[in-house]
Amino acid sequence: MSNFLANAFDSVRHKALEAARLALPQRCELCAAPSTGDLVCAECARDLPQPGPACPVCALPTPSGMTCGRCLAHPPPFNATITAFVYAFPVDRLIHAFKYQGRLALAEWCARALLAARAGRSASVATRIVALPLSTERQRERGYNQAAEIARVVASETGMNMINRGIRRVRASPPQAALPWSERAKNVRGAFECDVDLSGLAVAVIDDVMTTGASLAEFAKTLKGRGATRVENWVVARTLPPGG
Ligand SMILES: [Zn+2]
Ligand SMILES: [Zn+2]
Repeated sequence: MSNFLANAFDSVRHKALEAARLALPQRCELCAAPSTGDLVCAECARDLPQPGPACPVCALPTPSGMTCGRCLAHPPPFNATITAFVYAFPVDRLIHAFKYQGRLALAEWCARALLAARAGRSASVATRIVALPLSTERQRERGYNQAAEIARVVASETGMNMINRGIRRVRASPPQAALPWSERAKNVRGAFECDVDLSGLAVAVIDDVMTTGASLAEFAKTLKGRGATRVENWVVARTLPPGG
């Protein structure tokens, strides 16, 4: 089949799938009200916890969006963090459904929220996308890597290249949630491997939730070790520290 025909077929198939999707009665993932095409209805979307002014490097809240003291004193290996939401109710519920209940359709919703958040950030210059890898073990348990599902949509919507091979998590560390914050950096040391030459590249790392940022910091260190000049975290939701 000629390329032209193959492309025409692809486009027809894509339009048919899109039409089928829109024709299905869609219910809001949160309030179950009928929703046109979107997984979260307009009303619920308006109430989602949005981040306020925050440090451009680590995305923790700061007055008028200044770089925080911690990032100034000890710059992390990543250069910027973009987040769409605060990790709080009901975003936590959506991400939980996506991650543990196989609601893969939420990948597209997460990707769109991320791209909307990025649109307001002129400092974003990444040209490559990579998903924060899961250990083989955890991916086998879950059947998919939620970060990779989001990254795929981001790549196709932006036309950015996604790096799929040669980057992996070599150590399944104990779940970070089980550890005190101070222990988490130690817990992820040496957790990632990268065989890809990233010389001169600005890379966006996609993940669903950023908590302490220990995994993202270790991953950024790995990418920079392979030549990346800049690493941006694009994460759907940011956990705020206790009391913060
Ligand atoms: Zn709703
Ligand atoms: Zn900071």
